[in-house]
Amino acid sequence: MPDDEFLSRLRRFNTDYFPQYQARFKDLVEQGQRPSTLFIGCSDSRLVPYLLTGAGPGDLFLVRNVGAFVPPYDGMLNKKPEAGGHGQEREPHWVGLHGTAAAIEYAVLTLKVEHIIVCGHSHCGGIRALYDEQPEEAPNLRAWLELGREAALPVQLSSEALRRTEERSVVLQLERLMDYPMVRARVERGEISLHGWHYVIEAGEVHVFDVKSGSFVPASKAEHSGNGPYLAHPEDGGGPAERQR
Ligand SMILES: [Zn+2]
Repeated sequence: MPDDEFLSRLRRFNTDYFPQYQARFKDLVEQGQRPSTLFIGCSDSRLVPYLLTGAGPGDLFLVRNVGAFVPPYDGMLNKKPEAGGHGQEREPHWVGLHGTAAAIEYAVLTLKVEHIIVCGHSHCGGIRALYDEQPEEAPNLRAWLELGREAALPVQLSSEALRRTEERSVVLQLERLMDYPMVRARVERGEISLHGWHYVIEAGEVHVFDVKSGSFVPASKAEHSGNGPYLAHPEDGGGPAERQR
């Protein structure tokens, strides 16, 4: 491997890749970007949004984080009681500033995206971490994982439990998206559709959340790539996450 592999790659981008897309980039600079989709995905290196969606430059407004989590709109989170606690929920507490929340507001209000995708995946380290103690020296990670806490199951850890937790987390994040007033209003007006995806890395297939059945359906069998508005269905006695339990 050369001393500076990145430098060779940067040069290759400029000489080999850029010329093929020069016209597209020129247009994107002159006209500005008009991505139709906000993609909120896990940071995992095996999740490659452009490959999954066939997207190119200018198509996706991307935000990625550990676990593909959506922070609460008002920055406040109820903390579930600790294991072995007295069953008392803690007071809602401030969970800090989040780039993901800012990206959602910008994508919806300024870019006027028409789709919001939340994409989790199999073998997610962020979801697995919900079941482990995290180091004291990682206070930001510990706080961040609280955004997935409700998806965790009180069961013996297994690959099945992890898969269910990954899927439940996607639904939880979609529900939290609906707490953003600008998202909710547009979803209700039919201007934005929400998509909950679980990417199964080993199968090379995305499973799409179907709000009617409350389950994830492989893209090969699904009738749509996502739908909304992810509101609770009173006749079912709860929202999708409730029915996943
Ligand atoms: Zn992940």
